[in-house]
Amino acid sequence: MQFDLIALDADDTLWQNEIYYRRGRDAFNALMAKYGFPDPDKVRLHEIEISNLEFYGYGAVGFAISIAEAAVELTSGEIEAADLLKLLAISKDIISAEVEIYDGVEETLRALADYHPLMLITKGDRNHQESKITRSGLKGYFEQIEIVPEKSPDTYQGILEMYDILPERFIMVGNAMKSDILPVLEIGGNAVYIHNDLTWAHEHTVQHELPEERFFEIDSISDLPDLIRQLEVENPT
Ligand SMILES: [Mg+2]
Repeated sequence: MQFDLIALDADDTLWQNEIYYRRGRDAFNALMAKYGFPDPDKVRLHEIEISNLEFYGYGAVGFAISIAEAAVELTSGEIEAADLLKLLAISKDIISAEVEIYDGVEETLRALADYHPLMLITKGDRNHQESKITRSGLKGYFEQIEIVPEKSPDTYQGILEMYDILPERFIMVGNAMKSDILPVLEIGGNAVYIHNDLTWAHEHTVQHELPEERFFEIDSISDLPDLIRQLEVENPT
């Protein structure tokens, strides 16, 4: 195997992301406890979040609107305006949170970029994603950065066509089966899944039959350079 392009996901692959949403959910739970609902329905909140994706896309703003909607619904409209504002302001906390890069990321990117062009493919709110990429200090390792509304097979197909890359010479690395792995395998590409305990529930999927010759798993991003080397050197076809 030889790769003309290595693409990496950003959120929860290079840096912390889901943890800020968990804190937001905790704040929502704490506030609802104050109104006498100590254990708000997680499934209902998730439904509201998913139904709002088509309007607001992925990101902090849609999340904050979703928890506000859930709070109004749960309290039958009794929530005080000041508390509603607190929930909406959680988006500001998420957007202004420091970019916490995982251990080993910079060394990994440096090692990979010596031999391969790297691309960052991330989904979500463009302003927030651009701000995180700039603040991360990692921008210089990537030849291309693609911020997309959704990571579907068509999205990846479009990117490969735009850069004239064959799927079999493309490898995508990320923490989310639904966004980073399955759509890439579907179009004939290669994918590396990095385990991350914090991956958002929406990104979990049922067990799929995965093509083992094109699907790889690692526990840490630091294992990536060795894996790529093995695939290219030990399987040079
Ligand atoms: Mg991710």
